[in-house]
Amino acid sequence: MADGSGTQNEQAVFPVPSSIAEHAHVDNERYLEMYKASIADPEAFWGEAGKRLDWSKPYTKVKDVSFDQSDLHIRWYEDGELNVSYNCIDRHLETRGEQAAIIWEGDDPNQSKTVTYHQLHEHVCRFANVLKKLGVKKGDRVTIYMPMIIEASYAMLACARIGAVHSIVFGGFSPEALAGRVNDCDSEYIITADEGVRGGKNVPLKKNVDEALKHAFGVKKVLVVENTGTQVAMKGGRDVWWHEAAAGVDEFCDPEPMNAEDPLFILYTSGSTGKPKGVLHTSGGYLVWASMTHEYVFDYKDGEVYWCTADVGWVTGHSYIVYGPLANGATTLMFEGVPSYPDASRFWQVVDKHNVNIFYTAPTAIRALMREGEAPVKKTSRKSLRVLGSVGEPINPEAWLWYYNVVGEGRCPIVDTWWQTETGGIMITPLPGATDLKPGSASKPFFGINPILVDADGKELEGAVDGNLCITDSWPGQMRTVFGDHERFFQTYFSTYPGRYFTGDGARRDEDGYFWITGRVDDVINVSGHRMGTAEVESALVAHDSVSEAAVVGYPHDIKGQGIYAYVTLISGVEPSDEIKKELINWVRSEIGPIASPDLLQFAPGLPKTRSGKIMRRILRKIAENDYGSLGDTSTLAEPEVVDELIENRQNR
Ligand code: ATP
Ligand code: MG
Repeated sequence: MADGSGTQNEQAVFPVPSSIAEHAHVDNERYLEMYKASIADPEAFWGEAGKRLDWSKPYTKVKDVSFDQSDLHIRWYEDGELNVSYNCIDRHLETRGEQAAIIWEGDDPNQSKTVTYHQLHEHVCRFANVLKKLGVKKGDRVTIYMPMIIEASYAMLACARIGAVHSIVFGGFSPEALAGRVNDCDSEYIITADEGVRGGKNVPLKKNVDEALKHAFGVKKVLVVENTGTQVAMKGGRDVWWHEAAAGVDEFCDPEPMNAEDPLFILYTSGSTGKPKGVLHTSGGYLVWASMTHEYVFDYKDGEVYWCTADVGWVTGHSYIVYGPLANGATTLMFEGVPSYPDASRFWQVVDKHNVNIFYTAPTAIRALMREGEAPVKKTSRKSLRVLGSVGEPINPEAWLWYYNVVGEGRCPIVDTWWQTETGGIMITPLPGATDLKPGSASKPFFGINPILVDADGKELEGAVDGNLCITDSWPGQMRTVFGDHERFFQTYFSTYPGRYFTGDGARRDEDGYFWITGRVDDVINVSGHRMGTAEVESALVAHDSVSEAAVVGYPHDIKGQGIYAYVTLISGVEPSDEIKKELINWVRSEIGPIASPDLLQFAPGLPKTRSGKIMRRILRKIAENDYGSLGDTSTLAEPEVVDELIENRQNR
């Protein structure tokens, strides 16, 4: 808690296995050396690191940054020119043209395909030529609203090839959410598919686009990829079938030389805290960051099969399915389905089928699978696995241990990677060969990152302490602006603590300098003057055998200022009762202390989550406050129904 001590599990340390350290890109000594160099002289460090890419015109300037309101700008490699798709494809052709670039695994376990770098080149070139034929020009915004079919990656790389700026909208979003994002960035082009398939269910993408376009008027062309073959309405003059447009286009397309600071993509944040922001990333610095973090954080080695289970609709899919791995000439796996289909063994079956070496997923998936017990995991081999990763939320130590012991059988380091859409790539993370692991801690900063903790007034805090997480200086992968709203960029990230990037997250640093993300600062609970992160209380609840998932928020309390309101999902087979409620409250009391024991506890069959699986505490707070009439923007909610159930059974009336 506030004194920097943790609960039992948090004290455990898992040293780097020597088998990993021996062959890793960096061991701890090397990490410290490189880290020090990166902080002492960023110009020199990143000047050198930038050479990992191929530049059509080499840069002579490395960094030009100001976080001041009057002159807020972030530029890296600003006089260099390169093309991102060239770096992800063309430059590998000579050495690894026949190597698998993308392994695609369908929702249906009987469907998969492998695309080599040569084939990827041809597909992307054709896709790029189709876009040109439709009239797409350098700088135009192209909205991609697609399922996890391989064409989604072609579409991204094709945009990059011709200098168009893609804005991917997750295929699970509603027509309203899509329309809002199309309008926000004045996108004149949409790429979609007739339908998507997830967990055996069809998703009517083209129909959603038609619906969205009743509220988005600037769209000139809709390019439709045939996927399931279902019949869809095609509007003359506007809608174009991909296969028709692609007939007869050339299989070569020269990559457009782009300035390092030309935009690569816009991506709206997942909206856990409010109206999504159009995060803008540019070309050079972003790719340096995505590729370098991919190589070091996952300790990626030539020839390995790497699988990130995210959707390309999230930044994780951008940086760690497509851009980072392909820039490194890796084999990246792209999965159309969900962890629970056809059954809870699917992830591990896919691991065995394609001999996956590195596996990267989200705590929400781990918790859901943990709920189903060990049997679905144990019936698979998983012997190919070497490194495991986690991203998106704090991973509760209990879930971490399950991931480590059951999935990884104690042999695979877990990299718990903290980062944000805004940061472009991983910021705080263990490195497999360097960092001793503590379950639940994102641990140490990546090269070039200087994370600090500050109090409410911006005073920097030293030692083992809790505070608001800021980053003191820029890094190449940092977002450059909020699309169309530079003032909002300043207000959101640089106004609270002038001169620093404020992450919006709270963190604790322990006596070994490890960082523990405690949750969003807006979610911090203040009970009788004690500040508490939601992550800690939630982890204590999840550590109980009967609990599968928990979310904790504060609500106004006459005596304490704020009381603790806990929403708890029990594991399959355990029924809610007053006894178990009492048991859980006592459990938290003994795990953390009386100050953390929930005042109200509600059993929740489901929790409101964003489409990327993050718990939306903002909504839970409203319900806990008994103010459920004004839930705010719910367009990014995965299952709106769960909210009604929670309101119905709310405990504070
Ligand atoms: P919005 O900013 O629109 O409210 P969001 O913050 O959920 O949405 P993302 O950029 O997808 O959008 O998520 C970044 C956030 O996710 C981080 O700020 C942090 O709160 C959380 N997060 C990501 N990875 C980790 C991790 N390894 N440990 C703890 N928290 C994490
Ligand atoms: Mg955020």
